[in-house]
Amino acid sequence: MFLEVETHCHTIASGHAYNTLEEMVLEAQRKGLKGICITDHGPEMPGSCSSLYFYNLIVVPRKINGIMVFRGCEANIVDYEGRIDIPEDALKRLDFVIASLHDVCIPSGTVFDHTRALIGAIKNRYIHCIGHPGNPLYEIDKEEVVLAAKEYKKAIEINNSSFYVREKSKENCIEILKLCKKHGVYIAMGSDAHYKADIGRCEITQKLVCEYEFPPELIVNKSLESFISFLKLHGKDIEI
Ligand SMILES: [Zn+2]
Ligand SMILES: [Zn+2]
Repeated sequence: MFLEVETHCHTIASGHAYNTLEEMVLEAQRKGLKGICITDHGPEMPGSCSSLYFYNLIVVPRKINGIMVFRGCEANIVDYEGRIDIPEDALKRLDFVIASLHDVCIPSGTVFDHTRALIGAIKNRYIHCIGHPGNPLYEIDKEEVVLAAKEYKKAIEINNSSFYVREKSKENCIEILKLCKKHGVYIAMGSDAHYKADIGRCEITQKLVCEYEFPPELIVNKSLESFISFLKLHGKDIEI
């Protein structure tokens, strides 16, 4: 297994994913992962759960059958300032917050608009990672976004599903990956699984990481230890 921690996956709480939290965790364990972040969509995604779901995620045990369960979300960026759809009281209680642009939550604008939105999100202290920034629907100034991520020590996601569901993502992701290498910026390799079989899938991202000789120490979820250290960098003290 190339990764030890899944950083991006959805459960039935998202409204368009098909397994329970426990099914996802047990599948991650079956595949030999050591940790999994449950990152359901924020409330602005049609059919997804309310912010109370995220607020209450602390009831889920930290470990289930020996696998670490991280409390996360994939918040929706709802304006070009980079504001998101989950309130601070819930965000505070989460371990790992991804913020992403989705077409059902925000229309596409100009490169300037999208860049501003992502940088606004990067500046938010409760956000740790920008989800699928390679999406061609929201073209960005990649170097500006990568440099902002460097300044705030945030991670940029290279999303394996993007290569299948977001047409023409690949060229953008390659460029982003090269910029992250050039500037020493963290990446997260998320599967974006909406069904348990996809947990831990990162075959295309993995291929690119090897091809472009991306430094393994900048991959936040390469090992459980590296993920815990990344969270620690953001004030989250989680014991293994
Ligand atoms: Zn989804
Ligand atoms: Zn997404």
